[in-house]
Amino acid sequence: MDYYSRQISKLIQELSSLPGIGSKSAQRLAFHILNMPVEQVESLSAAIVNAKRNVRYCKECFTLTDEELCPICKDAARDHGVIMVVENTRDLAAYEKTQKYEGVYHVLHGAISPMLGIGPNDIRLKELMQRLQQEIKEVIIATNSSLEGETTAMYISKLIKPTGIKVTRIASGVPVGGDLEYIDEVTLLRALEGRTEL
Ligand code: ZN
Repeated sequence: MDYYSRQISKLIQELSSLPGIGSKSAQRLAFHILNMPVEQVESLSAAIVNAKRNVRYCKECFTLTDEELCPICKDAARDHGVIMVVENTRDLAAYEKTQKYEGVYHVLHGAISPMLGIGPNDIRLKELMQRLQQEIKEVIIATNSSLEGETTAMYISKLIKPTGIKVTRIASGVPVGGDLEYIDEVTLLRALEGRTEL
């Protein structure tokens, strides 16, 4: 790419390291950025840096947030006795979009995968078990229906069963191997309403 100046090439290279951005998109974005007013470019780069510097895990549910407690955990109107377990913050966002779920969440940040060497201690499972010391009515397991998601769901249900807390699994309807974030809200809602006890 030495037909561009070095700084343009560097910008294209950085952009193309992002997921889903091929070299063509990176070039298009780079030239779009170069045509933007400088204030707008500064505001974009500041937003990236500030988000990266200030975002951390909610100390209750471990979703990404910029405060000690995320807005959902802070909300007294939500049912703190129902915890939905999801693999990542994007899945949480997908369920929030349905606007029908009134409980709280627990974000695992991954799923158990013996093949990738990811074990129970590599995800936020200990933290989930600690939360269950409080008054909890139900744990809804909403991990993906991939092999890893199912393995994780089984593992969690075995762990929770002895506590006597009700454990449910969202219904299929969520296609096998499907990532929750790509599924439409109606399907998500149906999966939630049709959940079964484990
Ligand atoms: Zn939270």
